[in-house]
Amino acid sequence: MKIPFSPPYIDSSVIEEVTDALNSGWITTGPKVKKLEDLVCAYIGVPNALCVNSATSGLMLALKWYGIGEGDEVIIPAYTYAATALAVIHVGATPVMVDINDDFNISSEKINKAISPKTKAIIPVDFAGWPCDYEEINTIIESKKHLFKPVNEKQKQLNRIILISDSAHAIGAKYGTDYLGLCSDITVFSFHAVKNVTTAEGGVVCLNLPKPFDNQDEYSYLRCYALNGQTKDAFTKSKAGGWRYDIIYPGLKINMPDVLAAIGVAQLPTYFSSILKERENIYRFYQDFFKTKSWAILPPFKSELKTSSCHLYALRIKGISEETRDNIINSISEKGVAVNVHFQPLPLLSLFKNMGYQISDYPIAYDNYKAEISLPIYPQLTRKELEYIVKSVEQAVEMHL
Ligand SMILES: *Cc1c(COP(=O)(O)O)cnc(C)c1O
Repeated sequence: MKIPFSPPYIDSSVIEEVTDALNSGWITTGPKVKKLEDLVCAYIGVPNALCVNSATSGLMLALKWYGIGEGDEVIIPAYTYAATALAVIHVGATPVMVDINDDFNISSEKINKAISPKTKAIIPVDFAGWPCDYEEINTIIESKKHLFKPVNEKQKQLNRIILISDSAHAIGAKYGTDYLGLCSDITVFSFHAVKNVTTAEGGVVCLNLPKPFDNQDEYSYLRCYALNGQTKDAFTKSKAGGWRYDIIYPGLKINMPDVLAAIGVAQLPTYFSSILKERENIYRFYQDFFKTKSWAILPPFKSELKTSSCHLYALRIKGISEETRDNIINSISEKGVAVNVHFQPLPLLSLFKNMGYQISDYPIAYDNYKAEISLPIYPQLTRKELEYIVKSVEQAVEMHL
């Protein structure tokens, strides 16, 4: 059997919607993007959503919107994909990495210690689709308000550290009765090919700014900022008599094209009506199998407060070294099952090592990493394939323990 790690979910509704965009005479940012943004608002419950070309761009846009740059610090977890840190670096600010909890998510206690008068933002990551401790993080931000020194109009209006979630994994995850998107000031979801909902490449910036902000006004500003700071998009300019425009900020060029948005327009309703439940069923199948194994550490799934979006199944094997983990992965791969490791903590990567970050400062990140194996999780997996996967994992682990 050959089982890929994360093939995209493309059904006939996706093909129809993309064909419709191709046949419409308009392929870049236009009606399909607007439709996808409206769907995100309707499903998640956020006031405004702006589609961009990646979650990485979305994070940069959010940081730039708040005027974050040189001399500013942004707190992020050491356990994430590089994009979280790169977004901070690209706007000229300094990523301040902190360690995680056993559940892979950023530690509130470590955030509390890392906040300085230079801290302008915190970017927690909802790893594998498991929501961070939002109540605690918001309480910490409130308690450190006195340290915050606003330097522009937006910072004066909010008058505290801004909470920007890297929810690349977590569309559809719940915190209490709310979908993620409603727990932070700004939440960025990814629509990359391997994420729960895809547009091939893409992301969406969800606004949930408190008063006195007008989210609609900020959306309009950001929409313009994401298109070179141009007052009219190409779609509006293409209409008869609509040629004149102005450039009002040194914006980015990170808009999403309609051809790609069409994939998301077809997929988002299917995701909320069936794909998410199918992911949960697979997650539960894995939990039921691995909970009987003394060597397995199960990833978080549901608690009274939180529900995972089941983006990754992050299995850990008790007490193993990095080398044993790698050997186990080789044995699983020999059986034709593609698995993965999420993530190499950032301080293990050359760029960050060379910047001076040291893995010894992040012991929990390292402990989780060295024992972690991500299993395939997507709706196309059959019962037979799932049984083959868990048997292959079991055999590989028991061979190397
Ligand atoms: C995938 C991912 C991103 C980046 O998403 P893109 O849409 O590819 O830019 C950011 N953060 C995390 C945690 C991710 O897994």
